Amino acid sequence: MTVLGLKVDVDTLRGYREGVPRLLDLFAQRKVRATFFFSFGPDNSGKAIRRIFRPGFLSKMGRTGPVSTYGLRTLLYGTLLPAPLIVASDPAIVRRAEDEGHECAIHSWDHVKWQDELDRLDESVIEEDFLKALDLYEKILGHLPRACAAPGWQVTAESLRVQDRMGLDYCSDVRGEAPFLPALNGEVFRTLQIPTTTATMDELLGLGDVDDVNFNDRLFRAMRRKVNVHTVHAEMEGMSKRPLLDQLLRRCRDEEMDVVPLATLAAEIDRKKTPRRDVRRGVLPGRSGTVAVEGS
Ligand SMILES: [Zn+2]
Repeated sequence: MTVLGLKVDVDTLRGYREGVPRLLDLFAQRKVRATFFFSFGPDNSGKAIRRIFRPGFLSKMGRTGPVSTYGLRTLLYGTLLPAPLIVASDPAIVRRAEDEGHECAIHSWDHVKWQDELDRLDESVIEEDFLKALDLYEKILGHLPRACAAPGWQVTAESLRVQDRMGLDYCSDVRGEAPFLPALNGEVFRTLQIPTTTATMDELLGLGDVDDVNFNDRLFRAMRRKVNVHTVHAEMEGMSKRPLLDQLLRRCRDEEMDVVPLATLAAEIDRKKTPRRDVRRGVLPGRSGTVAVEGS
């Protein structure tokens, strides 16, 4: 029996308000549960406009351009339009996700700030933002979060230190093969990492030879492990690419692959036997820039 840990990253207001409810409907229909990593604070997507319109990013979106994926308003948030607060705009969506049995966790306070500026952020700023997300989470759900997933798979020693202090059960910040305890520049951390093991949709569609027709074949070919972790985005798989995610979920059912939230995987892991591995920066096919990967 193989298992698929399913992560949903929620990066923008549109993804939150339109993509998440549709994903919740789909998951209810297919009887699967997942982990939602929410961006809680301001949607500053407009500030990422240089990254979004970089040639590499445009080609990786395939035929789906950034305007149709994100919406024009999203591309102006934080610049020409004020940055709206994502979760505060309708906290009932987070509550609904938890009520329907999904795990709710933290992606970020400000996704763009983390993804584009983390290297330059002081530990105190990272902690301050993290606590804002944590406070809002607790206000809405009445308990503390057990997990987080770093935006854009960006980590620094400072961000790992902050996450250690939050007493989280696990983080899913990196790309790799299997769960491990992280070390970075010789510094060791105590919070378990559960890496994403498969390529994301935008990466696969950016390879040139992958399209909507062969996408799930390619994805399934990469799910060779007993335990796989796949990340989807509320902005893509929750919106225009939802039929492809539905196809994936039906295929998991047909091939007897259990789809579970990451908390289910975390509960199975014997921390005493978990290996320690280095986190380093790596380049992934179909993705511009570097991400945190497992390995020396
Ligand atoms: Zn994200």
